[in-house]
Amino acid sequence: MALLERSEWYDLARQTNWTPKYVTEEELFPDEMADPYHLPQEDWDAYDEPYKVAYSEYVKTQREKDAGAYSVKTALERAGYYANANPGWQSIQTLFYTAVPFIEYASGSMFGRFTRFAKGGGMRNMASFGSLDEMRHCQIQLWFGYANLKHNKQLDWAHKGCHSNNWAVIGARHTFDDIEHTRDVVSSSIMTNLAFETAFTNLQFIAFAADAAKEGDYNFSNFLQSIQTDESRHAQIAFPLVKMMVKNGKKDEAQKLIDIAFWRTWRQFAVLMGMPMDYYMPLEKRERSFKEFMEEWVVAQFERQMNDLGLDRPWYWDIFLNDLEYFHHSQALGIWLWRPTVWWNPVACVGPKEREWLEKKYPGWNDTWGTLWDTVIENLVAGHPEMTIPETLPIMCNMSQLAITGVPGKPWTLKVFTLDHEGRRYNFGTEVDRWIFQQEPDRYKRHLSAIDRYVTGVVQPQTPEGMLDYMGVLNQGGQDAYDYSWVEPYRGSPQGAE
Ligand code: MN
Ligand code: MN
Repeated sequence: MALLERSEWYDLARQTNWTPKYVTEEELFPDEMADPYHLPQEDWDAYDEPYKVAYSEYVKTQREKDAGAYSVKTALERAGYYANANPGWQSIQTLFYTAVPFIEYASGSMFGRFTRFAKGGGMRNMASFGSLDEMRHCQIQLWFGYANLKHNKQLDWAHKGCHSNNWAVIGARHTFDDIEHTRDVVSSSIMTNLAFETAFTNLQFIAFAADAAKEGDYNFSNFLQSIQTDESRHAQIAFPLVKMMVKNGKKDEAQKLIDIAFWRTWRQFAVLMGMPMDYYMPLEKRERSFKEFMEEWVVAQFERQMNDLGLDRPWYWDIFLNDLEYFHHSQALGIWLWRPTVWWNPVACVGPKEREWLEKKYPGWNDTWGTLWDTVIENLVAGHPEMTIPETLPIMCNMSQLAITGVPGKPWTLKVFTLDHEGRRYNFGTEVDRWIFQQEPDRYKRHLSAIDRYVTGVVQPQTPEGMLDYMGVLNQGGQDAYDYSWVEPYRGSPQGAE
C-alpha cells in the first residue's frame, strides 16, 4: 500500500478534535492549567506550528543524532579524554553535567503539560515531541556525566543535586519552577520557549560547543550541538502563541511574561555560562569572552526576534547591559571565595596572562576586581589559603537566590533593594528582581533563601558546619581546581611582573 506524503494528511490529523460530552470545556481545560487569557478557540484551532514533523520522521532523525553522539563518546573514552583533561575544563564538565540534567527534566515535564492542556492540536503535537527531546537531553547528559564518575565522584551530583538544598540548586529550582512548572500553558510556553530557549540556549549549546571543540572535547561539542537542533525546533512553539496574544489585545501580558522570564534566566545563565567562559576555560582555548558571545547570541538576536513578534525589549534593557559588564565577574569571585559551599572545584585562574585578557575584554577589570584578587594572592603567596575563605555569609537575593553583589566606588552599584511585605523584609539584588516580586507577591512570598533558612533556624545545628551539612557539602565542598598552582607567577613579585 502506498503511503501518503505527510503534507497530505498532517493538517487533517492534528486538527481532529472532539467535543466533550461528559465534562464541560472548562473542566477539560481549566484556566489555571490551560489559558487564563481566554484566547478564542478559533485562534487555537488555527495554531499553525512553524515546524511540522511526523513521528516516524522524528524517530529516524533522533536515532541518527544519538548514534553520532554515542559513538564519539566511546571513542574518546577509549582515549581517556576526561582523566587527562585540563582541571579548568574538568570543572566546567562537572558543573554542566550536574546542573543541567534536572532543568532538562523539568522542561520534559512542562512539555507533557502542554501535550495535555494546550487548546490547539498543533501545539499539542509539537509539545509531544518537545517532551521526548527533553527526556533525551536529560538522559544523555546523566549518562555522559556518570561515565566519568570513576574519575571524579563530584559527578554524582548529576542525579542527587536536584534533591539537595545546596544554595546553587535552590536558585536554579526557584527560577525554573517559576517559569516552567507553576503556570498555565500559555505563560509557561512564552516564558520558557521564548525567553529561555530562544534567547539563551544558543549561548549554552552553540557558543559552548565552539569552546569545547577548541579544547579538543569533541564528545561534549558534538552532543551539545545535537541538543541544540532540538531546542531550536521546539522553542518555536511559542511564536504562534505570541502572535495570538498580540492579535487579541494581550500584548502587555505577553511582554510582562518575557520581561520576568528573561531576567530570571539571565541571572542563572550569568553564573552557569559566564563564569566558565571567562574564568574556567583555559586561556589559550577561549573562543570569545562571555560578553562577546552574549552580544552576538542574546543581545542582537533576541532583540530582533522580539521586534519580529511585535514585542519590545524588556523595560530594564539598560540595567541588563550594565549587568553584562560586572555581574558574572562578581559571582565568579564570590563562588571561588565560598568554594567550600559548592560541589564542584571553582577556578580562580587570575594569573598575569588571564588578567591581561580580562582587562582587554572588560576594560577596567583590574581596577574593579583586581585589588581584591591581589589580597587573595598575597595571602596565598604567604602560605595562608585559610585566609582566603570568608567567615561570614553573603546576603542573598530573594528572587535570583544568588549573592547580592555590586561594585563600590564610582559608580557605586553595591546596593540592596529592599521591600517590606506583610511584616517580612525581602532583599533583592536589583530593581528588576524586586519588580518581579511585586508583580505577584503571593507567588513568591513564602519562599526562604538559603540564608533565610540559616537565620530562621530551619538549618540545625545553626553552625557553619550545620549549614554545609544542610547543603550537602560537609567535608566534600569544592577546592581550588588548580590547587593554587596559578599563584606561582606571583611568587617573589606581588604584581606578577616577569
Ligand atoms: Mn533541552
Ligand atoms: Mn528545551
